Amino acid sequence: MVPALASIASPTALLDAPFARAERRAAPDWSARRARLSDAAGRFATHLAGVDLAVDLGHRIGSRSWWRGFATLGALAGAAASIAINAPTLIGAVPYSEPASVREERAADSFAPLARGGTTGRNVAPNANVRRLSEVPERPRIELVARVGAGGLESALRRSGVGRDDLDAVRRLLSGVASPSSLSPGTELALVLGRRENRSQPRPLDALAFRAAFDLKLELARDANGALLLKRIPIKVDETPLRISGEIGSSLVRAARAAGLPSAAISDYMKQMGFVVDFQREARGKDRFDIIIEHRRAETGETQQGRLLYAGLRNGKQDIRLMRWGPRGEFYRDNGEGARKGLMRTPVDGARLTSGFGMRFHPILNYSRMHQGVDFAAGTGTPVLASANGRVVKAGWGGGYGNVVHIDHGRGIITRYAHLSRIGVRVGQQVSQGQSVGAVGTTGLSTGPHLHYEVWINGRAADPRQAKFQSQNRLGGSDLRRFKGQMQKLQSIRATA
Ligand SMILES: [Zn+2]
Repeated sequence: MVPALASIASPTALLDAPFARAERRAAPDWSARRARLSDAAGRFATHLAGVDLAVDLGHRIGSRSWWRGFATLGALAGAAASIAINAPTLIGAVPYSEPASVREERAADSFAPLARGGTTGRNVAPNANVRRLSEVPERPRIELVARVGAGGLESALRRSGVGRDDLDAVRRLLSGVASPSSLSPGTELALVLGRRENRSQPRPLDALAFRAAFDLKLELARDANGALLLKRIPIKVDETPLRISGEIGSSLVRAARAAGLPSAAISDYMKQMGFVVDFQREARGKDRFDIIIEHRRAETGETQQGRLLYAGLRNGKQDIRLMRWGPRGEFYRDNGEGARKGLMRTPVDGARLTSGFGMRFHPILNYSRMHQGVDFAAGTGTPVLASANGRVVKAGWGGGYGNVVHIDHGRGIITRYAHLSRIGVRVGQQVSQGQSVGAVGTTGLSTGPHLHYEVWINGRAADPRQAKFQSQNRLGGSDLRRFKGQMQKLQSIRATA
């Protein structure tokens, strides 16, 4: 490297070049300065020329020029090394396999142990810096969220650490405002427990907030004197009913569920519609259901769905509209006729009543006994009709009853049709009002062709001619006018589906 210096040995060449350019631009005034600079450069060059930079280090070792040569070599070598070290770094992965025991140890110590398979909660042996505290310091304030469980509000508060005095205060404040037992399980309680003087006392309840009802939030907080105060925060609720309609398709339940209707409202719809149409056969495919339910929307965003208010069904043949009305919540058709019909007065066509309900002399058994039904005289083969919608629970031989059919109409009502010549239904079959279930005959203990008909209510035989089974509710007068007005109002609600 040392011989490379030879090119710098006459530095005037380097110095002359810029001045040559300057001369071209500069005015003649500059010539004196240029002469002075040229003199200085000339003297420096003469001095350098006298210095032997390429010293032979094998010669005159230890002399002044040798040391200078040695220093020059060192400086050049250092410069070369520093250039080499500043070369760009090569980046690459360095494989490192951590022994399993070390990894486990580290994972337990780190703050992100779960993702790396750490065993949280593992005890690591303490070192000399670890000292046992005589008392663990307490947080001055605890904010927590508790949920009301099966035990109600008080139990949830007690579990969260609220003391008896505060529980009494909460109970006093809530009396008349909200019943602590009426809170639905799962209700969130936002609690703030304050500072306590010592550990033998429970923390004081500093604040409590919860939703007491769909439209009411309650907040309890301490005032400046330390007394708990109750604040009622009403929540605005929009009560516009929700209307959903759609095609029945293969299953009404599936279609209505998919539209977001609660299952209780769907089953109520099926039940009310079932009084008017045979759902199994008459409603399917492109027929449209139209359902309006109670719906509450709180300003905080929650919604609540309630009872069925309106049930509509439209198919090619009919347009059925039912609406809930009156204190008993019965459904009525748009003409004011009750949806739920009573039992048919005469479940056999063109028959006359021959024997009533009550004590009578039995013509075959030859003694007086209770007649638990009524008899209708009719020719053998006359169709016997189901007196209301229901499910067949017996269809077969019934001893003295001969061929008999029992139909369960729900709500504890069962009807029986005895002495049949022929049975036209099977056990488990759904029948609708007026559907033929068999034919009049004289099987069993019978003196001639007739229908023996019984009505049972909650396990007791009842007189089928009693008005309460026959009457079909019908709205009239001003009631009907108000009913129609309400139905019009409901039908003006826009459907969401
Ligand atoms: Zn009879």
